[in-house]
Amino acid sequence: MADRADTLRFLPLSGAIDVSFLTELGRRKLHEFKLSDAPVEIRGTFAPSNHHEVASPLCVSADAFDSGGAAGVPPSLCVVPGTLINANTLEDFKEWDKAELLRKAAAAIWQDMCSGAALAEPHRLCRFLLLTFADLKTHKYYYWFAFPAFALDPPPRATPPAPLASLLDASQLDALRRGYAALPASAHGRPAFFAVRLSCGSAGEPVQVAEVGPLSRWLEWRGGAGGREQAWIALCDPSPQHAGWPARNLLLAAAAAIREASPAAAAGLPSEVRLTLLCFREPVGGGGPPPAAAGEGPREPKSAAASTLYNVTMDVRGLFGGGGGGGGGTAAPPSAVGWEKNSSGRPGARLMDLSAQMDPAATAAAAVDLNIRLMRWRLMPALEPEKVAAQRCLLIGAGTLGCAVARCLLGWGVKAITLVDSGNVSYSNPVRQSLFAHKDCIGGKTKKAPAAAEELRRIFPGAEARGVVMGIPMPGHPVGAAEVDGVRADAEALDELVQQHDIVFLLTDTRESRWLPTLLAAARRKLAVTAALGFDTFLVMRHGLPPPAEEAAALGAGGLPAGYEQAAPAEAAAPPPPPPPRPRLGCYFCSDVVAPANSMTRRTLDQQCTVSRPGLAMVASALAVELAVTVLHHEHGAEADADVPAEAARAATCDESPLGVVPHQIRGALSFFRTDCMLGRAFGKCTACSATVTDAYAARGFDFLLDAFNGGDYLEELTGLAQMHREAEAALEDVGFFEDDEDEAMSE
Ligand SMILES: [Zn+2]
Repeated sequence: MADRADTLRFLPLSGAIDVSFLTELGRRKLHEFKLSDAPVEIRGTFAPSNHHEVASPLCVSADAFDSGGAAGVPPSLCVVPGTLINANTLEDFKEWDKAELLRKAAAAIWQDMCSGAALAEPHRLCRFLLLTFADLKTHKYYYWFAFPAFALDPPPRATPPAPLASLLDASQLDALRRGYAALPASAHGRPAFFAVRLSCGSAGEPVQVAEVGPLSRWLEWRGGAGGREQAWIALCDPSPQHAGWPARNLLLAAAAAIREASPAAAAGLPSEVRLTLLCFREPVGGGGPPPAAAGEGPREPKSAAASTLYNVTMDVRGLFGGGGGGGGGTAAPPSAVGWEKNSSGRPGARLMDLSAQMDPAATAAAAVDLNIRLMRWRLMPALEPEKVAAQRCLLIGAGTLGCAVARCLLGWGVKAITLVDSGNVSYSNPVRQSLFAHKDCIGGKTKKAPAAAEELRRIFPGAEARGVVMGIPMPGHPVGAAEVDGVRADAEALDELVQQHDIVFLLTDTRESRWLPTLLAAARRKLAVTAALGFDTFLVMRHGLPPPAEEAAALGAGGLPAGYEQAAPAEAAAPPPPPPPRPRLGCYFCSDVVAPANSMTRRTLDQQCTVSRPGLAMVASALAVELAVTVLHHEHGAEADADVPAEAARAATCDESPLGVVPHQIRGALSFFRTDCMLGRAFGKCTACSATVTDAYAARGFDFLLDAFNGGDYLEELTGLAQMHREAEAALEDVGFFEDDEDEAMSE
């Protein structure tokens, strides 16, 4: 036997990454790891090889991250603990000190070998490292496996592998399989290493499988029965030929255990260790007896890998530090190897490029999501991109402002965008209105709202964009008898749309077209954001929310809108004094002392369209979206009071959102390149948002709207504005020197 001994060869393990692992790695990188490259405990699995040429790889899939050991792993698989290091950059990945990583992992294994822990808990013998870099923008994943194993020098020698079937008869092979299948799985899954005790014949040949047990029994069995028994160490072998890679550490651990168990007499330590290694390559069922046990005889497909047996001789003098005394725990570990070779046969990383497999629409959605989330990593951990992206936005107007607001919303990941407009795309539009092109102008019949929605979906397939062709009924635009039904349908549809959305952007180009959306947003308590343009000036503002209905009732009809109180706890015996009411912010109409009227009559061409500096709409639209996003991040949301930046800067604590101050109005003038944040309180006689108006709408619905549309002084009389005017004029008449004063003023 010894004369035929040859160097024992080991087939390296190969790592296989499932796409599901990379998907999960990407998800965790984005949501959990962020910039951390700290080691993460993962797990891989392998099965004994079941093909005479094909090795079983060590596989990692999405469940590699599952904590809790082997939970959920099929009982036919062996679990291998691993350590994942996900580098932050490709440079980090390349420059990572891989030798040091391997050395540390090997040192831990060595420690377990020398302490005896490795035989008691054999999962400690087989570990893996996985170094990765996930390029989430391009869907390229770089990875490199290492399977730390000790360099055995001099290499162990072994007899040529003997097929197990040539040593044991079918019934004994079956007994071995069943014995292994019956081994209890630990928290670390099915043991990859185990021990077999056999009874021997008169010539010392193995005859009968006496016992299959955990690896920890091997040393005890080895010395038993004075040559009438054998004890084998065994591994579930992923390799179809030679010995599998995990056998290297198993052999060393076994040799260490023999040294440790030897009498500590000065010269008594063996310089050579002999042992029998079983490379077990049998199918293992789902925990129960394998199919062969059903009485139909072992099924051995021709291509199946066969278990083999090696008689191994190890020269251990060089392995345990100069052949000195026992207590190998003090010796330095042998050098370790194990970084995997790549497809070119050299140690090197591998790359999995998933970009071609990605659905382009899904890729776009993931990339948009990624861009927004990246803001959280370093710049804005408090950002709530999901909250922003979940907003349903209603854009009244699909012109210059509407197009720019929609595009900015896409940038924030908002998907649900509905545009309302009755107009057609005209030849002047595409150069300023970013969702239209020249082709949309030809024929003059392309409706803006659906064309804009279609373009949003073309830009970002994940957009749930909708275009609604609808005119906005306006005060001062009388409704003829024939039009009443159509206007009623439009008003009801608009109310429905407001209720279906979270934010209403008012982006039309006349004052009176903002009236009904303002009223509806107030009536339905939705955040409304207005953007309005002059030639070189703009206004961006958010409308204050009316108090909730129950508080409005408590304040009494018409008792608004000075403010409202926070609800007092109902169970309080003596109600505490209510906190000071939070002042309500005004709407677009609150600072007006006249009701909206038809502004389109008697206007020259340049007055009928909004003629403004081309960049102005972009500036105002961007501010409108950013204002809405900032408000969303405030703890009071749309009910947040306004910060005035100058005051906020002075105050030690200011009530701002994580994104900064939440102003009420932003007024800008390109002629000075300046913007100012301003504050305007809600006006009790406002023709659009006062309780008088919303109550009238609640009570009379479309009939009320019709009165307002038909104009006259209806709204001014209703809200008391008309009375206020009369009182003001009377007061001036009483004073008497109005005329003189005016003359004086004009003469200066
Ligand atoms: Zn108002």
